[in-house]
Amino acid sequence: MACAIGEFDKNKVAGMRSDLLELCGAIRRIIGQEEGPAPLHAPVFWGNEKAYVADAIDSTFVSSVGEYVNRFESMLAQFTGASRAVACVNGTAGLQVALRLVGVSRGSLVLTQALSFVATANAIAHTGAEPVFLDVDDDSLGLSPKALRAFLEQHCRADAQGAFHRATGKRIAACVPMHSFGLPCRMDELASICAEWGIPIVEDAAEALGSRIGSQHCGTFGQLGVLSFNGNKICTTGGGGAILANDEDLANRAKHLTTTAKKAHPWAFEHDEIAWNFRLPNLNAALGCAQLEQLPYFLARKRKRAQDYAQLFEHTPWSFVQEISGTSANYWLCAVLFNSREERDQFLACSNGSGLMTRPPWRPLHSLPMYAHCLRDGLLRTLDFADRIANLPSGLFNKDRPME
Ligand SMILES: *Cc1c(COP(=O)(O)O)cnc(C)c1O
Repeated sequence: MACAIGEFDKNKVAGMRSDLLELCGAIRRIIGQEEGPAPLHAPVFWGNEKAYVADAIDSTFVSSVGEYVNRFESMLAQFTGASRAVACVNGTAGLQVALRLVGVSRGSLVLTQALSFVATANAIAHTGAEPVFLDVDDDSLGLSPKALRAFLEQHCRADAQGAFHRATGKRIAACVPMHSFGLPCRMDELASICAEWGIPIVEDAAEALGSRIGSQHCGTFGQLGVLSFNGNKICTTGGGGAILANDEDLANRAKHLTTTAKKAHPWAFEHDEIAWNFRLPNLNAALGCAQLEQLPYFLARKRKRAQDYAQLFEHTPWSFVQEISGTSANYWLCAVLFNSREERDQFLACSNGSGLMTRPPWRPLHSLPMYAHCLRDGLLRTLDFADRIANLPSGLFNKDRPME
């Protein structure tokens, strides 16, 4: 098979496995970038982005108030089916506020997965709580209900005051499942375990805009859910986030806490608690409105891409990671499982060397220096996935552009 390896340094090709080189060529054909650099996930601006941003500038409302913020929030609520969406400055800030709103406080513990982006743990740590790192499922790559139940049954007790870690006496203040790469995790099971133990859920749905379990959107299963609109996510506001809520009261509290806790008044500065300035600027919301208009199209193209990848990997010794049954993933980042760390690393070298951007998953959070002391379980699946997964170019490319 002839393979397009772009500007690959010919000296390096010598040591590369030919099957991995061929795989790089096949990936390039699928994404339609026969040569040159192919990013992992770059944003595309094929809609009303310029018009809306220019309109925000013309209105002079570029900052923390403006019509695009309201429009962005109502578009999000409508798309996700959440009763409210509260826009904020980024996903990490949204997580921090959501955790605080469900009662996470200094000295408590928050159960989450070790296989996640560092923001999940940072948001927990910034509330003064400590993350507890649990293992993920072997198919969904999200928090494992089995691991959650095992940790609770082996190490915790519950009473009318809530759930507590027996050895340290610390309160289990929340559980934060994350939908890895946009693949929905088992929210129904996680939610019923947490309900049994009286533990609130904040869903880190930062990667999961457009992902659903049945017909219900990710981020709407827990007390609160959080989305990210960073530049590398499926839709972007440049930088931004949103808190999803089905409870009016929690949504109002989220708005209040992200906007300096200012009481509504035509001129007076009355603030009633220590809060944050985590507002999403109107300028960014304008970009976001234009992006959300294209979301159904982005989703369709990305799901088609995932199908093409799945088909490609059917005829290889490697497996493409697919949504679990009953769910619909946005395939934000497509992932493939190699047979060993060595093989995966050879693929990373081979693909990146030719300008085809691929990445290993995040370093498991328990192995980062600032989280090394945290409680955790055996993390068998997490460690295995960290060694064997590679993410493939997953954004939209020129060939995905709609016909005018
Ligand atoms: C992107 C991301 C975040 C944080 O979002 P920002 O908007 O970048 O702050 C949080 N958690 C996960 C899993 C993410 O991928």
